[in-house]
Amino acid sequence: MMIFGRCKQHLFAKLFSFALTLTSVIGAFAQSTEPVPPGHVNPWAPAEQNNIPPVAPLAGGVWLKGELHMHSRHSKESSNNPISKILAFCKSVGIDYIAITDHDNHVGGDVAHNTWTDPELKSDSVLLLYGAEWTTTRGHGNVFSAKPYDHQKLYDVRDQRDVVVGAIKKQLDVHLSANHPSGKDHFGYSYDMVNSIEVWNSCIWSKNANAIMIWDDMLSSGRKLTGRGGSDAHHGVPDSPDQATKNTPQVKANYAGTPTTWVYAATRTPQAVIDALTNGRVCVTANPYDPRVELYADLDQDGKMDIMMGDNTKSPGKPVKFRVQLNGTTTQGATYTVSVIKNGNPFGTYTITGGGKTPMVEFTDSPAGLGRTYYRVAVEGPQNPYPQVPESMALSGNMIGLSNPIFFNFDPNF
Ligand SMILES: [Zn+2]
Ligand SMILES: [Zn+2]
Repeated sequence: MMIFGRCKQHLFAKLFSFALTLTSVIGAFAQSTEPVPPGHVNPWAPAEQNNIPPVAPLAGGVWLKGELHMHSRHSKESSNNPISKILAFCKSVGIDYIAITDHDNHVGGDVAHNTWTDPELKSDSVLLLYGAEWTTTRGHGNVFSAKPYDHQKLYDVRDQRDVVVGAIKKQLDVHLSANHPSGKDHFGYSYDMVNSIEVWNSCIWSKNANAIMIWDDMLSSGRKLTGRGGSDAHHGVPDSPDQATKNTPQVKANYAGTPTTWVYAATRTPQAVIDALTNGRVCVTANPYDPRVELYADLDQDGKMDIMMGDNTKSPGKPVKFRVQLNGTTTQGATYTVSVIKNGNPFGTYTITGGGKTPMVEFTDSPAGLGRTYYRVAVEGPQNPYPQVPESMALSGNMIGLSNPIFFNFDPNF
């Protein structure tokens, strides 16, 4: 997928969005009124969730920032972007991990003998994930793995039915992620077989509205999918002016880290990055220098935060205090606007004044005692400059970052 070439929404995407909107309206109606025909028992009705595993500790891990969608010279439409150039750049801006996700169809599915065996795929500081962009007639998905896997198997089943694809995905034990889910090359497979969704593709924040809508629809219908970012950058800085291509100007606006996906990993290893990505302790910011958006909740009102974004727990059946904090450099005295989304709908708007170590705001709400509830936040405000990709700030606009949700009563065996 070429990033700047698909700003226009196709008619199909519009129809699709309309259908999804309609679905969520009907869904909301069904959940709020829950009419039950006389004598009918719905085996799928909300039930007590007594098997939710305890959440992981809030301390002892490490925040890592990275890039999850990037193309090197092994993708045919990329230019001036050997792996060595990408990794040297990542190191220079403090990016901790990267998945180079070349198009598998450009190498007949054989990423194992192309991207992965490229002698340049090595780093003394950046964690490297094994991955590829699964590039099919029904759209694109990224695969992430801490170790090599048999990608050819996934390539071979790309046109099969979802039950076949899902079985192969499970057998390979990989993390599958829906790429740029709306518009051209949208992910046209079942979301039941993905672990995450690319809710923020490239530096152009404004074109992600439909991706966010699809994410909220999937979350509202019980699918606990992690929202992640990816620049989808294809083009690097030429070594000499005569090597420039018509796409070379993109590198000033869109490159590694636009946006940046932050994961709270148990350890600094590729497997811990994947695990964090799967469990959802993740946020996305416009660039690596913007403040990290963190969402926590205090379940028993003792002033101590108990869980964070990505965590799922049983609703305490009483008010919960939530905390949104910005970790990193903020502009002293500037206003950051926090939008809270509850079950896909706007819940409230709050402000944080920039400055100090971790400026924050708190709000309180009571998640339903029975049935699912989720809360996520988006933060807008002044961007921190990203001098290495100087034109990205203008295209990200005011969007600083997105948290993943805090979940209540989600079925762990969904
Ligand atoms: Zn793509
Ligand atoms: Zn791509």
